[in-house]
Amino acid sequence: MRITQVTPFILHVPVTGNQIADSTHSITHWGVVGARIDTDAGHSGWGFTGTHAHLPGDQLITRCIATCLAPLLEGEDPSGIQRLWLKVARNPALQWIGRAGITTLAHAAVDVALWDLKAKAAGVPLWKLLGGQVRERVRAYDTDIGWLSIPDAQLVDGAKRSVDRGYTGIKVKVGSTVERDLRRLEAVRRAIGPDVTLAVDGNGKWDLPTCLRFCRGAEPLDLYWFEEPLWHDDVHGHAQLARASRIPVALGEQLYTQDAFSEFFLQGAIHWVQPDVTRMGGITEVLRVCEAAHAHRLPVAPHAGDMSQVHVHLSWSHPACQVLESIPWIKDCFEEPAEVVDGHFRLPQQPGASTTPTAGALARHARPVA
Ligand SMILES: [Mg+2]
Repeated sequence: MRITQVTPFILHVPVTGNQIADSTHSITHWGVVGARIDTDAGHSGWGFTGTHAHLPGDQLITRCIATCLAPLLEGEDPSGIQRLWLKVARNPALQWIGRAGITTLAHAAVDVALWDLKAKAAGVPLWKLLGGQVRERVRAYDTDIGWLSIPDAQLVDGAKRSVDRGYTGIKVKVGSTVERDLRRLEAVRRAIGPDVTLAVDGNGKWDLPTCLRFCRGAEPLDLYWFEEPLWHDDVHGHAQLARASRIPVALGEQLYTQDAFSEFFLQGAIHWVQPDVTRMGGITEVLRVCEAAHAHRLPVAPHAGDMSQVHVHLSWSHPACQVLESIPWIKDCFEEPAEVVDGHFRLPQQPGASTTPTAGALARHARPVA
């Protein structure tokens, strides 16, 4: 089997309620930006990265796929995933201009497409290729009820509804003021009771003194983790926070390489490991991070730039993956949506990585690639 063509695409899909915000920005759409890889055997693989649906930025990614990555892949045997990963990541010209950022997001999309293709060619869902089912259930936690843009009363109602739907975990955004965030979290904890896990996510906005003040106030709330408390690359700051607070530190959604994670492991600066196949160089690099996390006996909770379409396969098959993020924005775009039933992800059944968009989604949400 040979790769005949690599064709980029961009979809912009509306978010719940048409607008959401965290501590750093608000968005109206989620960007599904990627590539279809066709072969002479008739199989096609689909892969994508996740973006804030900023069309000029998304077009930089699709341009990178079309002009830099496609020529490296076309004519190749797609089953040699590790070799093709190195061919892209260690291409001297690409390495020189970007070991992170647009080139890596583009790489993520094609790596996911290659895994989708490999699973389709084998006639199995991706989790079978990744080692097979390792657990009875994959617990989901609900992120979509906790945006900073949601007013206080609505936040509490949403958290209760989420628990009524069967979720045993939720996540709430923080990063406004410590006082407001603690007030909101206290109200949520009262509403959901002690048995539902409550995580918070700061999106890297606060500095260390603010995080320390927040953590002192939040200790009675039994938080499951504090995600991205500090600036994404600040290993030393996270290590200080991890030592000073009893609230576990989670991070990784903005790290591009296994080496970046290694620093956090070595400094004791991370408790929950959150790699993302759409941010790093795809499934291939995230598997390396999952193995490293497992070697450090740290749990993985993948960040869902793919809205868990792909990560659900990792979570069923890798022993380090403990819990998975649920956000429903794009699921209806795919032939096999990542479905949560009674607070747990359904086991995918169709061959591939659950990344094949429906014809309807391609018609409804497509944007020009350039
Ligand atoms: Mg986050």
